[in-house]
Amino acid sequence: MSALPELVIGVDLGGTKTLAGVVDRDGRIHARHEIQTPEGSESEVIGALDEAVESLVDERIRALGYGVPSNLDRSTRRLLRATNLPLGDFDLVGHAGFRFGLPVGVENDANAAALAEWKLGAGRGTSNLVMLTLGTGVGGGVVLDGRLFRGWAELGHMVLQVGGPPCQGNCHGHGHLEAVASGEAAERAAVALWGEGADAHRLVEEARGGDEAACAALGRIGHYLGVAIGSFANVFAPDLVVVGGGFGTAAWELLRGPADEAARAEALRPADDGLRIVEAALGDDAGLVGAGLVGFETLDGLR
Ligand SMILES: [Zn+2]
Repeated sequence: MSALPELVIGVDLGGTKTLAGVVDRDGRIHARHEIQTPEGSESEVIGALDEAVESLVDERIRALGYGVPSNLDRSTRRLLRATNLPLGDFDLVGHAGFRFGLPVGVENDANAAALAEWKLGAGRGTSNLVMLTLGTGVGGGVVLDGRLFRGWAELGHMVLQVGGPPCQGNCHGHGHLEAVASGEAAERAAVALWGEGADAHRLVEEARGGDEAACAALGRIGHYLGVAIGSFANVFAPDLVVVGGGFGTAAWELLRGPADEAARAEALRPADDGLRIVEAALGDDAGLVGAGLVGFETLDGLR
């Protein structure tokens, strides 16, 4: 009789939706639970997280891992304020540990996605990787010299346009990558074209259907994404740049051409030629699988 796989619950808290799943060490998802992320208050967000875990937890589950769109205090593991959610300074490790009686790991959502793509996805075998997750906002994760960088890695808040449009949510900066190349930026472009109620999904659909204005809007977003990737290539010299997130994967085939061209125009030799930019192999599940891996790292005493 073969041993049953060890299982954890991974929870990927996103600005729009929250994905939770039962995950094994190979990143396989055995069960899943998906909900819209509440926008009202912190207690609603925490309530939704608890409900997601509650719906999946049973006696086989060994640990919980969370990917959250917040910065973390690196010494206490407390959440600091999220940019795009009503989620302030909060001790999620303490809260979930008390409620479910399991070891709890927490990591920034894009760092978790980078961990998953590096260990199990497009970045397997690399030592230096940059991941960008394009969802409501833009998250970043960096693997350097074969280790996940545990710092903030807020690549989405790099300035691309000095004095540019205001950034989103709780960010008070201007012209950040997130302000010009996120799902939210795509939604603004859609509203500008077709009025209130139009969204990023429609922008992608219209572009696929050949609508010129939609293609141009996504081309601009892809261009900004590429300029940022070229800059990150000059800082980190990654073996690979991985683009994921809900919007990033949905729009990838429309973003990749302009992004590739712009990145190569900005990257120093020999990255201007050899830079590899790929879609997340785990697709929109990278954050969920990564959250599961964070749970396993906690179980193994690595966090
Ligand atoms: Zn910002």
